[in-house]
Amino acid sequence: MLDAWTIKNSNAAPNVNSKEKLPLVSRQPEKRSIVWVKGVPIGGSDAVIIAGPCSVESREQVLQTAFAIKESGAVMLRGGAYKPRTSPYDFQGLGIEALKLLREAGDKSDLPVITEVMSEEEVELVADFADMLQIGARNMQNFALLRKVAKAKRPVLLKRGASATVKEWLSAAEYLLHGGNENVVLCERGIKTFDNSLRNTLDLAAVALIKEMTHLPVIVDPSHATGKRSLISATAKAALAVGADGVIVEVHPQPEIALSDSEQQLTFQGFADMMENLQSPLRKILRQRELAVCL
Ligand code: PEP
Ligand code: MN
Repeated sequence: MLDAWTIKNSNAAPNVNSKEKLPLVSRQPEKRSIVWVKGVPIGGSDAVIIAGPCSVESREQVLQTAFAIKESGAVMLRGGAYKPRTSPYDFQGLGIEALKLLREAGDKSDLPVITEVMSEEEVELVADFADMLQIGARNMQNFALLRKVAKAKRPVLLKRGASATVKEWLSAAEYLLHGGNENVVLCERGIKTFDNSLRNTLDLAAVALIKEMTHLPVIVDPSHATGKRSLISATAKAALAVGADGVIVEVHPQPEIALSDSEQQLTFQGFADMMENLQSPLRKILRQRELAVCL
């Protein structure tokens, strides 16, 4: 039986559950959103594979990569133009030049393109060239940027901050929907933990959890999550097995000479091998089961 204090306080402060604080991103039983990026559905029955270099470095590099990944089955091209680097002495990206090269590569290979936007001032410029805007891990809680991107007429990939809880990540997505942009895809890219054996710790349980909490599509970035080329294929497969709607991976014609994230970019052959690994029956069975439950 409840005592007087409990009754009084539960009346005064109603239990604010996550649905009340996150009304727009929360999962309604009947709803699962599909985000369309120039004809490519994210969150539908097929897992989407997005690939491309960490940074756009040259015309040849990005064009070669676009054709190679397309050949192996990627449906979207990534490439950084404005790079969030830990050190100011590291390569910062080619900026507008990279945006033009990425657009050209996307058009020539017939792949939609995604690139990161780092500041409010660049949102319109980046949206002029890109089909999807990426908000990087370091900017997940840059609320001014979230508000501005919410007004851009482009779908958004919202990466999880390296130290963000699932609730904070969903709250950041709520900003985008609240600001008027419903076309949001979430991306788990590893978090900081006590263990520094790898660049980050890939939180796959959070992927399964967040699929229960939101109708938004969720993808995984095994490149940034592990920082290690040899682990990308296995973790990409695991991501799809727990229910991710796709993966985004880094691919470079010669990873060993890449100007950023050289350790975590796949070669063209490595990417082709990963694609083959993802085609296994396990993947198909799990996906069909999940879709059957959703219908
Ligand atoms: C990136 O995708 O190039 C990137 C910098 O990712 P993150 O924001 O996840 O570190
Ligand atoms: Mn990178």
